[in-house]
Amino acid sequence: MSKHSNISIFVPHVGCPNMCSFCNQRTISGHQSVPTALDVINTCTQALGEVKSVQNTEIAFFGGSFTAIDKDYMTELLSAAKQFVGKDKFCGIRISTRPDCINEQILESLKSYGVRAIELGAQSLDDEVLKANDRGHTEKDVLKASELIKKHGFELGLQIMTGLYKSNNEKDMQTLKKVISINPDTLRIYPTVILEGTKLGELYKSGEYKPVSFESMVELCADMLIELSQTDISVIRCGLHASDNVSTEQVGGFYHPAFKELCESVVYRKLIEKALPENITGRCEVSVDELCISKAVGHGKSNTEYFKNKGIELAVKGEKNLGRYQCRFRG
Ligand code: SF4
Repeated sequence: MSKHSNISIFVPHVGCPNMCSFCNQRTISGHQSVPTALDVINTCTQALGEVKSVQNTEIAFFGGSFTAIDKDYMTELLSAAKQFVGKDKFCGIRISTRPDCINEQILESLKSYGVRAIELGAQSLDDEVLKANDRGHTEKDVLKASELIKKHGFELGLQIMTGLYKSNNEKDMQTLKKVISINPDTLRIYPTVILEGTKLGELYKSGEYKPVSFESMVELCADMLIELSQTDISVIRCGLHASDNVSTEQVGGFYHPAFKELCESVVYRKLIEKALPENITGRCEVSVDELCISKAVGHGKSNTEYFKNKGIELAVKGEKNLGRYQCRFRG
């Protein structure tokens, strides 16, 4: 089966009533200008000619608070995109927005334009953390919007941020537990990246905001991936996907181009550790799904090295259809 993909169209910051502590939309989207309906048409026309599996591809309006932008402008963009949805065209439209910018009327309107998935930037489900980061909405708003989105038959996506100001690993794990009880279809986990020109940047430079170490964040996200593997929630992102200028505007936080790979190495390290008999040393053979061998060996062979330091010579074998995040000790 072909993998799902998106034709991403960035709608930076326009209309957003907030200035969240971490936000520097233009930096993240890498775009200075807002797209016009014609830009949408051009992007979709070009993509229709290039994308192999259009029926697994959605037109995605990302980067801002889509339902908070000027209504006429929003419908212009949606009308332009709608022409490219249907038979032999793309399978639908997805948008991302804020939890407090969703209501019955907006949802009806989105549905009429062929939107089928809505991602909410929840960021945290801890009111103290939301307040400290100037999100301008509460946990209750996330719960309410999620319920409405599901009730109207949309695919629900949630986005959370880990390591925000005034948060810690326990609070982030609590947020994840609440996310699991909301049971969205998809989840994006974004470890906080601190950018120049943001409130977080200032708090970080003054020493008021002290994020946990990079290793601790990778461990946390690995634990989250393990928890999520027990659910039907599909993790469609772990780590910020950003244009090149993030690397020039980043002043701290947790950006790594292969963040998810780092986390999955830790996931497998934990699984292997659990599968091995206690106090074992010498050569140990474990099997994992044949598609996950490199994850089990670890990013830069980190797991092989880790076990070597414990006197274990790790041999990873691939097994057909064993499944993701499974590990068996073979002796
Ligand atoms: S709601 Fe989104 S676009 Fe608006 S300031 Fe916050 S992160 Fe930026």
